[in-house]
Amino acid sequence: MTPHDAPSPQAPTRSTPVLIDGFGRAVTYLRVSVTDRCDLRCVYCMAEHMTFLPKAQVLTLEELDRIASAFIGQGVRKLRLTGGEPLVRKGFMGLVESLSRHLRSGALDELTLTTNGTRLSEFASDLARFGVRRINVSMDTLKPDLFRKLTRGGDLAKVIAGIDAALAAGIAVKINAVALKDDNAAELADLIAWAHARGCDATLIEAMPLGEIEVDRTDQFLSLKDVRRDLESFWTLTDIDHQTGGPARYVRIAETGGRLGLITPLSHNFCEACNRVRLTCTGTLHTCLGREDASDLRAVIRAGADDEALIDAVRLAVDAKPKGHDFQIARASAPAVARHMSTTGG
Ligand code: SAM
Ligand code: SF4
Repeated sequence: MTPHDAPSPQAPTRSTPVLIDGFGRAVTYLRVSVTDRCDLRCVYCMAEHMTFLPKAQVLTLEELDRIASAFIGQGVRKLRLTGGEPLVRKGFMGLVESLSRHLRSGALDELTLTTNGTRLSEFASDLARFGVRRINVSMDTLKPDLFRKLTRGGDLAKVIAGIDAALAAGIAVKINAVALKDDNAAELADLIAWAHARGCDATLIEAMPLGEIEVDRTDQFLSLKDVRRDLESFWTLTDIDHQTGGPARYVRIAETGGRLGLITPLSHNFCEACNRVRLTCTGTLHTCLGREDASDLRAVIRAGADDEALIDAVRLAVDAKPKGHDFQIARASAPAVARHMSTTGG
């Protein structure tokens, strides 16, 4: 063997699969909505009487696993399961258990979910057993009556019991709250302090114009710039460099010692660093939350595509990821995107 034949320790033996879009951004984060159904009807998310999808249109658990695994094979390192409410999907824990093989193999860094928490008490210990280390729980208020109103019937006590069960199982919890002008604006500091006292991070989200609902979103919209100014009148907020490739910017609150995320899709453009794509429960891939772009991966797999053809379809869709979103909350205007957050997955 000549010195030229000797394998160099630096030389890659095979190319590492990476999904790069047409603007050079690496896509390493996939969110998968496993169902459009939910046991709650949050006022900013769903209409009171939703028509849910026929079962035949929804990907089976095996199809969800196959598509998610194709993305993981192409370099996705973080997978978030969401919905609708993921924990109401029958057989959901089987999917989590199956996907956890990618954690064990080292292909995936993180398997996580976003949940409304109503069924967490039941599932927290299994989630921990299958390698889920962190979850997001959505909770917009600490007032049981307001919670019932905002979710159209939800029981706050169940959500709090679920959060406690997750923490007891060793799962880190981030509390997500949508900032709503008339409903929880005055309570946001209490909610943040409550989360931080339990060792949870908190994140506030601006209401986004996704899907037709009964109310005018301009009535609900509360700018997080205003919320931040209000919090700074009694707390010390310091920007911290915690990047997730998403729309959240983070601050540390000196008085609570906790971290607060601010998700401001409307007043802050976050598209340059976007590393994520979203798969709906019907197998449609959306590469931008704020645009109507879509690729039908269900059609690809139901037409009998082999793994290679599925990977080609995934790469083609990611390549066409738009440069940026197109949100705008203008009075009486149609939503920027017709699909609901419960379809796309938050
Ligand atoms: N059911 C789960 C939950 O509520 O956490 C997961 C799905 S839910 C669609 C994901 C997140 O989207 C939640 O935190 C929810 O508050 C948020 N969300 C729903 N509709 C929204 C909207 N129009 N604007 C901003 N956030 C929204
Ligand atoms: Fe259900 Fe989550 Fe939408 Fe609320 S935000 S209605 S819990 S999917």
